[in-house]
Amino acid sequence: MRKLKESLKPGAPADLAGVHDLRHDPFRRGSRASARRRPARTASEFGRGGWFATRFGVGALSAGLCAAACSGDAAGPEPDPAPTSPPFAGTIFIDPDIITPTDPTTLLELSYVGQESRTMFDRRVDDWVTVSAYLFDASFSDGLTIEVQVNPEFGTSAAGQTAAELYAAAIGRLPTALRRDVRTVWIHQGVQPFGGGNDNILIHTGQADLYVADGILEETLVHEAAHTSLDASHATAPGWLAAQAADPTFISTYARDHPTREDVAESFLPYLAVRYRADRISASLRATIEAAIPNRIAYFDGLALEMDPID
Ligand SMILES: [Zn+2]
Repeated sequence: MRKLKESLKPGAPADLAGVHDLRHDPFRRGSRASARRRPARTASEFGRGGWFATRFGVGALSAGLCAAACSGDAAGPEPDPAPTSPPFAGTIFIDPDIITPTDPTTLLELSYVGQESRTMFDRRVDDWVTVSAYLFDASFSDGLTIEVQVNPEFGTSAAGQTAAELYAAAIGRLPTALRRDVRTVWIHQGVQPFGGGNDNILIHTGQADLYVADGILEETLVHEAAHTSLDASHATAPGWLAAQAADPTFISTYARDHPTREDVAESFLPYLAVRYRADRISASLRATIEAAIPNRIAYFDGLALEMDPID
């Protein structure tokens, strides 16, 4: 923990934090099929203000740009066979049905073990805080365990448990390979970006509510857990760098702009979608992903990752 704390001191490179900002990612551009499934937005949703309204505003712009510029995506199922620019702004938005709340979870049990001092990163103060956290031991059917640390601002251990259960169950829907290095989960209130890395997943529940409303809680957790469990071994691995170099483009502008920090995390959810959820995504979305990052897909294939309960 000490080493990680030092890496997160103000002034440290942002990518070492592993806690990054997806709030400003423009809305996804792909998957007309998922857009069809998406409930119509109401005026009140547009009126929420802050990043949410901004996101949909940008999304409308992005969709307009796509209709004008991405003829393959907008007009038919055949994308450009050799895309020269990332097809998405950010990938957590590409389709809300890749993992859903009705999918099986590996979470077996969540036990309250009391309150103890824990040091957690809190984006609201953009710093580490030490609090007497409500602690819960989560156990999963593949033998993995996570300590869920809930900020005492939730008021009671029962309220903490409700939050811990919700997110532990969602994390249990992620494949084993992504939970392998997740030792702790931090849960705070507030509308702040999630985070990955540090053997941890950081959750702010106000932001989580927005992701739930959008149907992308699990998709976002895939991104964060990929940071936690895949970055260290793969983000700068020669094979990954070779795949980056060989592929036509990055999967998203977010990955392109942060090629070391975000490329693995941004690419993994699309990989999971085409390899394990092809029946849930549109043919157009699948073709777009496969055209953009075929070598990265082959790289992930070669890892023979443990995908329970996805596969
Ligand atoms: Zn990220």
